[in-house]
Amino acid sequence: MPELPEVETIRRQLNAKLKNQTIKSVRILKTGRETPHGQAFAKAVTGKKIKMIDRRAKLLIWRFTDGSSVTIHLKLTGRVILVDKKYQPGKHDRMVFEIGPYHLVWSDMRQFGTINFLSSEALKKKLSEYGPEPLEIKSEQLAALFKSPKTRNVKSALLNQEVLAGVGNIYADEALFRSKIRPTRKLGSLTADDRLKLAKAVQEVLKQAIELKGTSSQDYLDAYGQEGKFEKVLRVYQRKGLPCKVCGTPIVRTVVAQRGTHYCPNCQK
Ligand SMILES: [Zn+2]
Repeated sequence: MPELPEVETIRRQLNAKLKNQTIKSVRILKTGRETPHGQAFAKAVTGKKIKMIDRRAKLLIWRFTDGSSVTIHLKLTGRVILVDKKYQPGKHDRMVFEIGPYHLVWSDMRQFGTINFLSSEALKKKLSEYGPEPLEIKSEQLAALFKSPKTRNVKSALLNQEVLAGVGNIYADEALFRSKIRPTRKLGSLTADDRLKLAKAVQEVLKQAIELKGTSSQDYLDAYGQEGKFEKVLRVYQRKGLPCKVCGTPIVRTVVAQRGTHYCPNCQK
């Protein structure tokens, strides 16, 4: 699933093109994952001028000049890609937008993604459900989020969007490896030093992943249809059985918080 770095990459690319542009048309190829439903969605967004493309957690937000917005959650396999005007839609495409001189396709193979047109009040309410953005607070503030509840395991805390926004399975595993903490550790067992190391590791992996335009080990592509390059520097995620890049011990895969979880049994305590 695209996480903070992937959505941020798309946000930057789209903002550079679509800022100050007006939505000229919306072609709906497949209905069912938008609100309001069908042509009502197309009617609501056509004619809106984009003030900026924003992001909160894993949510891509098109903020319009009148205060309303469109939010897109890519979920497992969603993509938003700039295409040329001769583009022929494929079978997984859901909507094609004409925005100023640009054309943008939203596609989703697994069909879990959503697109919503929201009033400014509805957006505000939606965004209030998320915890802080990990790159917009100090390491010490981020570390404090890992204090309680003491019986929660650290991987669950990282994945919980109400605790902090934007981290998913890839960057949770990578941050835990870099901070030498096992994913199954309870928050109550972490020392102040552990919490700060973890906070710094979260920020470090997210920043590096944004620089490398995300991870494409599954379906993710950026707004130009290109793969991210973070996959080359993954240390544990989807490296089950491969030697740890630090100590050579085979990486273990287990299930924590109902998610496939990867760690080095030697480096992570
Ligand atoms: Zn190791």
